[in-house]
Amino acid sequence: MKRTPIVGGNWKMHNGPTKTQEYFDLFEGPSGDTEVFIAPAAIAHASAAVHKQEHVMLAGQDYNLPSEQGDTTAGISLEMFQDEALQTQYMILGHSECRRDGDSDETINVKMKKLVQDSSIHPVLCIGENEQQRESNLFESTIRNQIEKNLEGIESDKLNSLVIAYEPVWAIGTGKTATPELAQEACKIVRNIISEVFGGEFAAMLRIQYGGSVKPANAEALIIQEDIDGFLIGGASLDPKSFSQIIEIVEQNS
Ligand code: PEP
Repeated sequence: MKRTPIVGGNWKMHNGPTKTQEYFDLFEGPSGDTEVFIAPAAIAHASAAVHKQEHVMLAGQDYNLPSEQGDTTAGISLEMFQDEALQTQYMILGHSECRRDGDSDETINVKMKKLVQDSSIHPVLCIGENEQQRESNLFESTIRNQIEKNLEGIESDKLNSLVIAYEPVWAIGTGKTATPELAQEACKIVRNIISEVFGGEFAAMLRIQYGGSVKPANAEALIIQEDIDGFLIGGASLDPKSFSQIIEIVEQNS
């Protein structure tokens, strides 16, 4: 089954509107079929929408509940992300940094339900085990639990081209990348769990990104793995040259 590769850059709390404009002056978007999205900081999202290359898509890094507009100081609702000017096509949910900062599996499930019911924005669900869970052989039960709880109560035909980003927490921002073999094994297990929950056809079409210290030097060995359909990238996406290089590597190897 041929799946269109998808590469995302998660800028986290980096790049305001001015730096965002400068970034797109240096960035080379995809030239082939690979889908590319950037998740700017919310404050720079409108700048990215103006200055980005045509084929680059934009993602929200997460949104706050309640999902409608309202009196929540410093909050950014799903409704706001749906403003046409922002061109939001993807939404990252369940990033390990958001889980660390308080998002429970139940909260992520509420956000996921609202996203797929009330918007046409595609979800990117981040899952992954921490170092202790990996060392205690709790990898599979951890990601199974995340998948089951975060997607509970949603039918597969409502999942709106769900993307799953498998991101072992011990590899995020640490420089420690999972070996290609380990990343492949993990992504295959993710696909098997999805198959059990949503059926084989859905699982075969599901795009799974690997995330965790991906850079130009390790991108090729990872992308050639059967169950890895792209990357979610933090640090290396902040450098337009490195991110462009990774996209080129994906395009040459898929
Ligand atoms: C991330 O934050 O999703 C991530 C994968 O970060 P990094 O590439 O810096 O490890």
